[in-house]
Amino acid sequence: MGRVIKLECIVCGRKYPYGQGVTLHIAGRDLTFHSKTCTIKFVKLLLEKIPEDKLKPALKETLNEFKKLLEERRKLTQKKL
Ligand SMILES: [Zn+2]
Repeated sequence: MGRVIKLECIVCGRKYPYGQGVTLHIAGRDLTFHSKTCTIKFVKLLLEKIPEDKLKPALKETLNEFKKLLEERRKLTQKKL
């Protein structure tokens, strides 16, 4: 019988089966979370620790990317009507 690979949530320590949960690849490391709630908890704290001068341009770029996606989706919806 094959052994089920278990991962450990780095936030709450819960063990969960490989293929479930959320894995983020950040700065050359694999960060494993058993749930979205634990992921958000970690990412929130991480963002708070990034100096504002570094965070600002990254935030702007990310906001623009989602803005573009929203605009594209709106255009597609309008074409259908
Ligand atoms: Zn967890």
